[in-house]
Amino acid sequence: MVRIVLVRGDITAEAVDAVVNAANSSLLGGGGVDGAIHRKGGPEILAACRELRRSHYGKGLRTGQAVATTAGRLPARHVIHTVGPVWSAEEDRSALLASCYRESLRVADEEGDRTVAFPAVSTGVYGWPIDDGARIAVETVRAVAAAGTGVEEVRFVLFDATAYAAFEAAVAAGG
Ligand code: ADP
Repeated sequence: MVRIVLVRGDITAEAVDAVVNAANSSLLGGGGVDGAIHRKGGPEILAACRELRRSHYGKGLRTGQAVATTAGRLPARHVIHTVGPVWSAEEDRSALLASCYRESLRVADEEGDRTVAFPAVSTGVYGWPIDDGARIAVETVRAVAAAGTGVEEVRFVLFDATAYAAFEAAVAAGG
């Protein structure tokens, strides 16, 4: 059983085991959630990301993958960085967005994290329509829960009222 909780607010304030970052493939920081996490978490996170680039991801983290680092000064234990797909009207990239949630939860489980906070991956700078992004997020978390995971609680932390409403609808849709 995985409890799904919706929160309106700033993900960097969440006292959870793992906070998921909507990173880019460079792992070296960006805007939106990524900028907020590095700003509040401090330089330790960026140092860990640089080390990961050096040791494992010379070409960057691929879209749909996830990797954990320290959370620096954030209340969380880990930041799990995942790279969402950029929205495309021509190409269906839903599987890649689903992979972000699935892989992040796999990494969280591996790290022994029980509570995980997600932002609405890809729905900011990467342009994914929020209703569809919310549906994919909720469906994927439910699928992972059904398959079995040590994660007990997933918190979707939504920055604005529109995103919150989209997640409410997505949660209601699946019963
Ligand atoms: P992406 O590049 O994957 O689209 P963004 O960080 O630009 O990632 O946006 C992802 C979502 O996170 C957007 O819906 C945005 O409004 C929201 N967001 C931005 N900052 C925060 C924050 N501090 N906490 C939670 N959500 C945030």
